[in-house]
Amino acid sequence: MLNFENTEIAFSSKSNNDLRKSRFLFKLVARSWVVNIGKHVLNFLLAIRFPLRPFVKPTIFEVFCGGETIEECDHRIAKLDNYGIGSILDYSVEGSAEEEQLNKTAEMIIRTIDKAEHTKAIPFAVFKVSGIASDRILERKSWHDQEMGTKEKAEWSRVEERMHKIAKTAYEKDVPLFVDAEDYAFQPAIDDITWRMMKIFNKKKAIVYNTIQAYRRDRYEFLQSMHEKTHQEGITYGVKLVRGAYMEKERERAAENGYPSPIHKNKDATDKCFNNCLRYIIKHIKDFALCNGTHNEESTYLLTELMDQYGIEKNDKRIFSAQLLGMSDHISYNLAHEGYNVAKYVPFGPVREMMPYLIRRAQENSSAQGQTGRELGLIKHELKERKKDRRHGERESEMDNTLANKKMEERA
Ligand SMILES: Cc1cc2nc3c(=O)[nH]c(=O)nc-3n(C[C@H](O)[C@H](O)[C@H](O)COP(=O)(O)OP(=O)(O)OC[C@H]3O[C@@H](n4cnc5c(N)ncnc54)[C@H](O)[C@@H]3O)c2cc1C
Repeated sequence: MLNFENTEIAFSSKSNNDLRKSRFLFKLVARSWVVNIGKHVLNFLLAIRFPLRPFVKPTIFEVFCGGETIEECDHRIAKLDNYGIGSILDYSVEGSAEEEQLNKTAEMIIRTIDKAEHTKAIPFAVFKVSGIASDRILERKSWHDQEMGTKEKAEWSRVEERMHKIAKTAYEKDVPLFVDAEDYAFQPAIDDITWRMMKIFNKKKAIVYNTIQAYRRDRYEFLQSMHEKTHQEGITYGVKLVRGAYMEKERERAAENGYPSPIHKNKDATDKCFNNCLRYIIKHIKDFALCNGTHNEESTYLLTELMDQYGIEKNDKRIFSAQLLGMSDHISYNLAHEGYNVAKYVPFGPVREMMPYLIRRAQENSSAQGQTGRELGLIKHELKERKKDRRHGERESEMDNTLANKKMEERA
């Protein structure tokens, strides 16, 4: 029986020290004033190029990131694999306006696809279009396509070339590829280019996945209309379903620019939209491949119930659940233990360049008070249980490290 309260399974890969570190971090970020002040302090320290690495790497970085390079993530990948959980290498360096940097990011994404081709424990690759396109061109292409001049058109065609190269590599290496959803201001261009890649590469199966942000008021209808289009085209519709990560920013931008907020009016409406999208996809699963990207227990239970209702096997290749590294292990580990397909986003990149990602994680954990409190409660519970059996945590961790090292040796 799937039970997210089972902390023994949830934290079986964690030593007591790992758990204490997570407890400390979750306690810290649960205080929104700490996160708000911390954000400004970190941005200031970044601006004066203060050497943050020695403080950040063994703490928040270690909890939420796999490493600074692909190779550094190997240990994490093997560790998750021991528990039947896949890894999705996420090169989380933020976008740039420099062509050279955009090309470098595209090359790094291709390296993650190469890595996935040779590593069974990496079921997907992922990237953000804003990593290979400047924000400015994404916004122009989204809303002012007809007004774009020759220079802008040339810039956009370089973005298309990068995107095509990434998707073609994924296709040739048979590695399904998630295209993350981003700001409302960029999303029309992202949706359009993703659709064009799907048409080319999803003929036999879902290689390219579009991301649906259920916090957007228009996304349920969008999902249905895309389903119709993919159906007509005779291709599989790959969908990563998430709630959406940029709510505050979207609301502020809409108010500043005088257009109605694209976000649902409250959390309840977002939850309903998410669960309706889930119901729709599972009902039409023959046309879809799904990644349920959520830390929400109710939506995860709903997925398992729907799979049961429609007679879908737990390990059906078309359906995965995914969480972010360092978050909601109680969901990932318990799902995997029950035989469902699960993967974790494993973000990586140089510590300094990962700071915006880490700040976002801290903010998310501080604004999602309920969820942070929930995780903290589960961690505390497990630590208490382990105190009753003092050696348990360290023994698990030793076993875990030995297994992980053995797997790495086998692969080498
Ligand atoms: C594997 C994975 C991949 C992801 N990929 C992306 C991506 O490509 N693009 C992206 O934008 N995000 C992405 N996210 C982040 C995701 O969108 C959410 O921000 C995050 O997962 C929290 O939502 P939840 O479903 O886990 O849980 P919950 O904690 O139940 O939901 C929190 C979310 O609900 C919504 N919400 C909260 N309050 C309100 C309110 N008052 N009104 C309306 N809505 C509200 C917001 O979207 C908020 O993030 C991803 C997450 C995961 C786990």
